[in-house]
Amino acid sequence: MERDLQIFELIEAENQRQREGLELIASENFASQQVMDAMGSVFTNKYAEGYPGRRYYGGCEVVDEMENVALERVKALFGAEYANVQPHSGATANAAVFLALLKPGAKIMGFDLSHGGHLTHGSPVNFSGKYFQPSFYGVEESTGLLNYDEIQKRAEQERPDLIICGASAYSRDIDYVRFRSIADSVGALLMADISHPSGLIAKGVLNDPLPHCHVVTTTTHKTLRGPRGGLIMMGKDFENPFGLKTPKGKVKSMSALLDGAVFPGTQGGPLEHVIAAKAVAFGEALEDSYMEYILQVQKNAQAMAGAFVERDYHLISGGTDNHLMLIDLRNKGVTGKAAEESLGKAGFTINKNMVPFDDKSPFVTSGIRLGTAALTTRGLKEADFIRVADMMDQALQQWEDEAALERIESEVAEWMSDKPLFAW
Ligand SMILES: *Cc1c(COP(=O)(O)O)cnc(C)c1O
Repeated sequence: MERDLQIFELIEAENQRQREGLELIASENFASQQVMDAMGSVFTNKYAEGYPGRRYYGGCEVVDEMENVALERVKALFGAEYANVQPHSGATANAAVFLALLKPGAKIMGFDLSHGGHLTHGSPVNFSGKYFQPSFYGVEESTGLLNYDEIQKRAEQERPDLIICGASAYSRDIDYVRFRSIADSVGALLMADISHPSGLIAKGVLNDPLPHCHVVTTTTHKTLRGPRGGLIMMGKDFENPFGLKTPKGKVKSMSALLDGAVFPGTQGGPLEHVIAAKAVAFGEALEDSYMEYILQVQKNAQAMAGAFVERDYHLISGGTDNHLMLIDLRNKGVTGKAAEESLGKAGFTINKNMVPFDDKSPFVTSGIRLGTAALTTRGLKEADFIRVADMMDQALQQWEDEAALERIESEVAEWMSDKPLFAW
């Protein structure tokens, strides 16, 4: 068979795009070569519905061994008693948890989408908002921070069955102990979705949700730097609070409920090639070099946030504890949409983002979200991120000047030309 040049030329074009630009999308990263090799492996050919030792297909002895390694590694990485590495993505991990913990029409309470929450936490266009009754808590306008007394009040008004903590654009750490006491006070279950900061949480750089939340979900491709995928964990397994029984009349454990909600509840055959790549990424994250990496991610975010503040940019909450920041551009006379376009022309890949109490639509927005995980993988340090902030500031000041944006773009391409995507 002839090689499919049409697609492989596009893959090469994408490779070049990733090499030449400055990747600041907070949810992206550069996976290592061995993560990508595992993902492109023969495990893609294997059907393995079920779980290690209890599959619905023959020939699963190797897959079983591999999936067990993935499970052991991720449990060691997060200190989890239970993990499920099969969810295809963060969204399907959340779908499975909702299926396991909630009845259709149940009440969920999540982080306001327009304040940085995720679609799967109750958006009307998502299953979470269609099949469940959502309510939301948000940040305080004056501080940009979660106000836990307000969340307590909201929970008492709404009486949710499930509270979700975690977001896609919140730059501060989360008080899971407080969230648990709020959940307990209204009889709600508590789920943390740590899709964004999971790498920092794994290495103990941020608060640990596992001892305090009933269930924890995450993606594996953001700060965790693995393949695109999802993951469900529990710090400790426990009896389900719904009294559901096994065929033998024993009360089912939460792990049995969650496993059943992933397969056969919401998925068919697991993506074993992606699970192999997850195992490789978990192995990498257990190493000292990843600890160094994740500390650098955080230091870089603080350096870049400081540089923007110095240049009179309005950061929501004034700074960052993790890998990302949300910038309100209203004092700079440029919308999020225009900033995304102009910065794109200047070589910066970023995304426009709603800011809390935004007066513009989600297609325009008043802000941008930036993260340091990807460029830190490329080897950039604090001084480099100050330079990034400075170049972005120049681009934003001249956002309507095509020639100026082009000049900045060639400077970016020149700077990045000798930097490998994965430098660790
Ligand atoms: C990215 C993200 C997800 C969804 O992940 P996908 O893999 O894109 O489905 C879910 N929750 C949060 C908080 C996220 O940031």
